[in-house]
Amino acid sequence: MVNGHLYAYPPTCNNNTDPFHVFIVTENKSTIYRGRFAPSPTGPLHFGSLVAAVGSYLDARANQGEWLVRIENIDTPREIPGASRDILMLLEKLGMYWDGEVVYQRERHALYHEALAMLEKQNLTYACTCSRREIADSSIVGIEGPVYPGTCRNTSQRPNSPYRQNRQRAVRVRTNNRPVAFTDAVQGYVMQRIGKAIGDFVLHRADGIFAYQLAVVVDDAAQAITHVVRGADLLNSTPRQMYLQQLLGYATPAYMHLPVVTNTQGEKLSKQTFAAPVAQFNVSFQLVSALRFLGQSPPDDLLDNNLETFWHWAIAHWNPANITATGIRQPDCIT
Ligand SMILES: [Zn+2]
Repeated sequence: MVNGHLYAYPPTCNNNTDPFHVFIVTENKSTIYRGRFAPSPTGPLHFGSLVAAVGSYLDARANQGEWLVRIENIDTPREIPGASRDILMLLEKLGMYWDGEVVYQRERHALYHEALAMLEKQNLTYACTCSRREIADSSIVGIEGPVYPGTCRNTSQRPNSPYRQNRQRAVRVRTNNRPVAFTDAVQGYVMQRIGKAIGDFVLHRADGIFAYQLAVVVDDAAQAITHVVRGADLLNSTPRQMYLQQLLGYATPAYMHLPVVTNTQGEKLSKQTFAAPVAQFNVSFQLVSALRFLGQSPPDDLLDNNLETFWHWAIAHWNPANITATGIRQPDCIT
């Protein structure tokens, strides 16, 4: 038991070569609940990110838990100046108050270096000098496109902090085909063989930026997050994160992947698909819409009430069992 989690085998058994040995995480039985909302400051919040914020907030509050906010600005070139401040101001305007200090990933590089060094020490990583083109030419196709064929797996020298000596090298983690499985609170049973589906993935990019997968795992562990509630667009990433948690000896949180909000063309709402920002006015309408998208049934008169009444109702009536894996369509006026 690690923080209330049961493992089919403990993190110390990484050398287990049994391909049918499934890594299972049961539901967190701990009475402590610590959730988080982790937006990227690449633009204003849109309805899709509002749904993730509302879902994680309600699940935490309905379980008498804490709700933390982490700004995921590890990819600094993509950060829009002022976006973090705007996101936090909007959350306050929506009546969503977080616990503790807001954490900014860009201030946590030392932690990520430390985790990477731990993996390097165990020879679980290696330096990769392949070009984007070489990787794109891979004939192996996984769930997120070409799978890295492992060209540098055995040719690079021992991974003695190559990322420090030569910034032109990416650092990859060695993966295998043992199934990584978990039961998601909304999506149900999920199983992935990372080696086949994804391949050895990057932890530290050649341009010096830590990969999202490593940063999120380090942060969730450092913040002692017990429950991760987020959009299902990250569902494919979860086995990778669980794998890293295992390698680093961290506890695995419980996961709930909320349905992704799409526009009329069926595309996920994002900056790339020109999703409209959450408006500063008519906030109860947007909150009620988010609740309905999550399968909850707020009464119409909740629209006429103040935010306090809204949250009181929403927390008291929160029922994740009513969330459908794919969601229901949101009103057109939102997107
Ligand atoms: Zn390579």
